[in-house]
Amino acid sequence: MIEKALEVLQRYFGYTHFRDGQQKVIGSLLQGSDTIAIMPTGAGKSLAYQIPALLFKGTTLVISPLISLMKDQVDALQQYGVPATFINSSLTLSEVRSRVQKAVQGQYKLLYIAPERLESDSFRGLLQSLQVSFMAIDEAHCVSQWGHDFRPSYLHLGPFLKSLPRKPLIGAFTATATEEVQTDVVRLLGLTKPNIFVTGFDRPNLTFSTLRGENKKEFVLEYIKNHEDQPGIIYAGTRKEVDNLNNFLVRSGIKAGKYHAGLSDADRQKSQEDFLFDKITVMVATNAFGMGIDKSNVRYVIHYTMPKNMEAYYQEAGRAGRDGEPGDCILLFSPQDVVLQRYLIEQTVFHPERKMNELKKLQGMVDYCHTPRCLRKTILEYFGENDIPEECGNCSSCNDEGEVMDITLEAQKVFSCIYRMRERFGIGLVAEVLKGSRKAKIRELRFDELSTHGIMHDTALQEIKDLINYFVAEGYLQLSNGEYPVVKLLPNAVSVLKGEGRVSRKISPKTSRQESDKD
Ligand code: ADP
Ligand code: ZN
Repeated sequence: MIEKALEVLQRYFGYTHFRDGQQKVIGSLLQGSDTIAIMPTGAGKSLAYQIPALLFKGTTLVISPLISLMKDQVDALQQYGVPATFINSSLTLSEVRSRVQKAVQGQYKLLYIAPERLESDSFRGLLQSLQVSFMAIDEAHCVSQWGHDFRPSYLHLGPFLKSLPRKPLIGAFTATATEEVQTDVVRLLGLTKPNIFVTGFDRPNLTFSTLRGENKKEFVLEYIKNHEDQPGIIYAGTRKEVDNLNNFLVRSGIKAGKYHAGLSDADRQKSQEDFLFDKITVMVATNAFGMGIDKSNVRYVIHYTMPKNMEAYYQEAGRAGRDGEPGDCILLFSPQDVVLQRYLIEQTVFHPERKMNELKKLQGMVDYCHTPRCLRKTILEYFGENDIPEECGNCSSCNDEGEVMDITLEAQKVFSCIYRMRERFGIGLVAEVLKGSRKAKIRELRFDELSTHGIMHDTALQEIKDLINYFVAEGYLQLSNGEYPVVKLLPNAVSVLKGEGRVSRKISPKTSRQESDKD
């Protein structure tokens, strides 16, 4: 089967071989299994349904939410000699009728339609006469309220599929799908025992690093000077931060520009062009920068502030090294970042469930900042890829030459303090009790009388908090969901308390922080 697919790939598209994920996805569809393919943007999802469409009898329906994209795809297919067309709101009624008629006569291998079309009874009627054996649903996460891009019109897909005389084979494609979204896709589209593939997320040419406790401004300046003339992007958390950092860099003689939503259209346009045409080498920006810009030789992306979740981080960091040459992705973080992101989530108008979900994703990001494990593995597992090697050899964890220290005693101190505080408080208060604070709240709760009160008075408060975060990232502790996350003991921690397990930590320049976080 796959040989035939390869032949089609070569004959129509002129490529010599499939990419990693494509082959699995195409194989699954060709053997007739409903398939969910989760592949990042640019990984080649389109071919993964276009090739089966060319091999199957009859016409394949492709559901696609973006009118402009639809036209591009169809134009590209026609250039390759593949008979394809689209139907969306840009067409007149008679044009729609004519295209459907041609489809019924078998003149197209692929028919792209916008999901809104399915809301119309008469359009659905027209489609009844079409023999659909395969239906590809692009941006399938739009069906789920959990997704970042829920589209009510996608909810018509389920009933539409049910209304067909024979249920077609379904391929659902998306770049992002958490467990919740996957469950929704399966349920709302009525998929039967689908094969789910998560693939293509790795970007081997990128080096990932996390750094904390650095003087961020000095670090950035130093880094830029050491990478003279190499284009790079620095993402900061707020407009004000962008303005400040950009001023600082310009004053320090760096060819930097800035981009955020507070600038006029003209200023933004100019900034973007200056960067594209190498008039400036460094772009300091908020997350408003990047959508749709296509600069392939960006050599580094530095995050000056921790983003709100791994999806956002990976998308932004992924703008480095698009040309396949090495790229550096550095995340600078400080505890205040978490406070800011948490605050921003609280300020949204999302319903409570959605907020909880956002907070959970934020925790994934915080874990990434604290994990001693391979960062690439952490990223890929976050997105759901399996079978990732323990070490990539190309991230700050793998390259960390630090010493492994036994920290069982510290762990026991922390865990027993949490236990004595009845697992009802957050990281901040636990750390303060360990440090020995006598502030009013602690006295009121009589935590100053606990045997663990002040048991870590020699350690800096921030270091105690870091340590607790480390235990969270390492799966000893859990942070409850919600506005005020509470630290709880996981079974691993209980074993350590019973003296049944030991805890170690790599101590390196990265973890032994300098006290210079402030500007
Ligand atoms: P996605 O839909 O996942 O964002 P696309 O389908 O648009 O990605 O593909 C991204 C790019 O990769 C396109 O330019 C496409 O032609 C190219 N591409 C896809 N598959 C292959 C392949 N097997 N070999 C070479 N290039 C490919
Ligand atoms: Zn690694």
